[in-house]
Amino acid sequence: MTISHNLGFPRIGERRELKKATEAYWKGDLDYAGLEATGAELRRANWDKQKKAGIDLIPSNDFSFYDQVLGLSCLLGNVPERFGWPSHYDGQNMNIDVAFDMARGTDGAIACEMTKWFDTNYHYLVPEFTTQTTFTLAGSKIFDEFREAKEQGIITKPVMVGPATYLSLGKITDGSDMDKFALADALIPVYVEIAEKLAAEGAQWLQLDEPIFSLDLDNAQRTVIRKAYSALAQVKGIKILVANYFGELRDNLELFTSLPVAGLHIDAVRGVKEAETVATRLDDQKWLSVGIVDGRNVWKTDLTRALTTLETVTGEIGTGRLMVGPSCSLLHSPVALRSETRLDEQLMNWLAFAEEKLDEIVFLAHAVDGKVDKAMQQANQAAMEDRAHSTLIHDEAVKKRAAAVTEADYDRPAKYPERAKQQRAKLKLPAFPTTTIGSFPQTQDVRKARAAHKKGSMSDADYDAFIEKQIDDAVAMQEDMGFDMLVHGEFERNDMVEYFGEQLSGYAFTKLGWVQSYGSRYVKPPIIFGDVSRPSPMTVKWSKYAQSKTEKPMKGMLTGPVTMVQWAFVRDDQPRSETVKQVALAIQDEVLDLEAAGLAAIQIDEAAFREGLPLRRNDWKAYLDWATQSFRLTASKVKNDTQVHTHMCYSEFNDIIEAIAAMDADCISIETSRSQMELLDAFVQFDYPNEIGPGVYDIHSPRVPAKQEMIDLLKKATEVLPPERIWVNPDCGLKTRGWAEVEPALRHMVDAARELRAAK
Ligand code: GLN
Ligand code: ZN
Repeated sequence: MTISHNLGFPRIGERRELKKATEAYWKGDLDYAGLEATGAELRRANWDKQKKAGIDLIPSNDFSFYDQVLGLSCLLGNVPERFGWPSHYDGQNMNIDVAFDMARGTDGAIACEMTKWFDTNYHYLVPEFTTQTTFTLAGSKIFDEFREAKEQGIITKPVMVGPATYLSLGKITDGSDMDKFALADALIPVYVEIAEKLAAEGAQWLQLDEPIFSLDLDNAQRTVIRKAYSALAQVKGIKILVANYFGELRDNLELFTSLPVAGLHIDAVRGVKEAETVATRLDDQKWLSVGIVDGRNVWKTDLTRALTTLETVTGEIGTGRLMVGPSCSLLHSPVALRSETRLDEQLMNWLAFAEEKLDEIVFLAHAVDGKVDKAMQQANQAAMEDRAHSTLIHDEAVKKRAAAVTEADYDRPAKYPERAKQQRAKLKLPAFPTTTIGSFPQTQDVRKARAAHKKGSMSDADYDAFIEKQIDDAVAMQEDMGFDMLVHGEFERNDMVEYFGEQLSGYAFTKLGWVQSYGSRYVKPPIIFGDVSRPSPMTVKWSKYAQSKTEKPMKGMLTGPVTMVQWAFVRDDQPRSETVKQVALAIQDEVLDLEAAGLAAIQIDEAAFREGLPLRRNDWKAYLDWATQSFRLTASKVKNDTQVHTHMCYSEFNDIIEAIAAMDADCISIETSRSQMELLDAFVQFDYPNEIGPGVYDIHSPRVPAKQEMIDLLKKATEVLPPERIWVNPDCGLKTRGWAEVEPALRHMVDAARELRAAK
């Protein structure tokens, strides 16, 4: 009998209950018991949902108040010394008090670093290791939740991140040259202890997530993997399931299939080609969990096609050792489609969120055993047919235009040195020109007006007048401060993707499609369902208005194609590069309209450019090629004297500097202030040929930097870059800041530039 299986369910709740409770607790509006109760209710409801859907093997310990990697650090007693654990936390809850302090910092201890979980938009708290690091079984969450579910009548499968992935994701924080993988000897016994305790509690399976199998592994990692699983395989009375997801196994396939454990999970969405190979290599004792329902996207599974894949697997191993599940935890999917009210009905019929994916898993598990739900299969086939041919998706004009793009369409008429000459003649900027990244503080007033307009309680005329007033003030202030290149302030924008997506064909927005990004911060990615085009100008009205208010050059402000796609759920019926190309052409239209409207400079933000890098180095070049081309396509048609800017923040540039240079923006602004200009190294070593604005004002902090600090940073930059190619700007947009700190900071910044100019 095939087992229907789940790797994890979203814990945020259908109505963001977890966020509301957590934030209320932080504010002091909800007490400890109230927070606990919300957690318990979410777990109960999720287990119940999965049971009702017919899932045989239901996960536990997938719940977390903040993050599951943080939860694991707490379980292992790996709390950085600065928090004073355990003495400061007598009797306090490991998963609430200690975890929240680690995530958010305390008066005396800075928070742990947060970073992206593989190539998702989920962020985990980075484990910290020092030469003093020890591991002990310090928490009880994984056991408590197992018992909790058991009382509800469900024998769950506890899940946790595996030891090799845990060590790989952590960082050494004491500056020592220790080998973090040597910690395996201390770590593995705690995993063994956990497995033994779970076995004693009555757990039959323990899922250990090892998504590092989707990465390029080195010998140290391979050694830890071997050691860990030969130790864990000795534990009696519980079966270990090692889960890989987010990619193919490739050169790790051999190691993976040779693990001496009871079961293996593969990502059969991204690694569909490997499903059969893995099945062939499997010894005749092992279970195989085939992750065939996409845990990271919102589309219905093509059930007929999935069944064919599953049949190639059962052809090898039969149905006695088969599990069917999602490719990865459903944490990365929105919770429930059924409560959506904002989506087109036809589009709705192509989608499946976490709840609906459970039904697909159960359907498939039954179907491989010969019990096919005919009605569901037919409805699914009809939806697939409908989607394949719908005019909602397929726009021949867009396809034709994208197909007609030739090599020449990626190039601007002249190379940078010639363009720079013409731009200098036109813009007449001083040395060390000053500008900002685009957005100004989004005050309560601004947010309220936008919301009122959206709701319909503020008329178009009143709203327009309101935005005009904001722009007037912003322009006047920038002129008063002495900025050289101005921005309009982006007051009309809620979000840098949503604002554009709402005006593009092919994009849809859900009402409740939230996905956890980190802690209590959730995002609601748009859905790119069809061919993308731009029916009419999106930003020209406000940029043109802003330009009419000043003699100084005004910068038009757009979001780039890679970012527009990276922060969305993307259609899976064509290559991602094709979707990005369509978006690039839509943005090209906007760029040309801005130029025609008199904007002499246009900034195309690509905040997510690096984030799009594939997990394997072998795949980087292909990505960087089309990502770079898409940017060039947006900007290639403007005149030589129109200045193209781009902006990237939070980026680490070493691996992508060649591609950044190939984007050929006339100017790039980057985040450098927090790293004391260290991020510039990549640009210097590569001899980056165009202009750069290294951020001199850390906008992530409310602190107002002094003029001298910024002068010092700029001087550092002039030591390594040609001064005539340096711009002066903050690290990023200012929308999350308040005017009280922004105004003095910007004045200091402009003054710093002036002083540098004078010193020349
Ligand atoms: N232009 C955007 C802004 O200023 C850029 C935001 C970003 O890079 N994250 O808000
Ligand atoms: Zn930025």
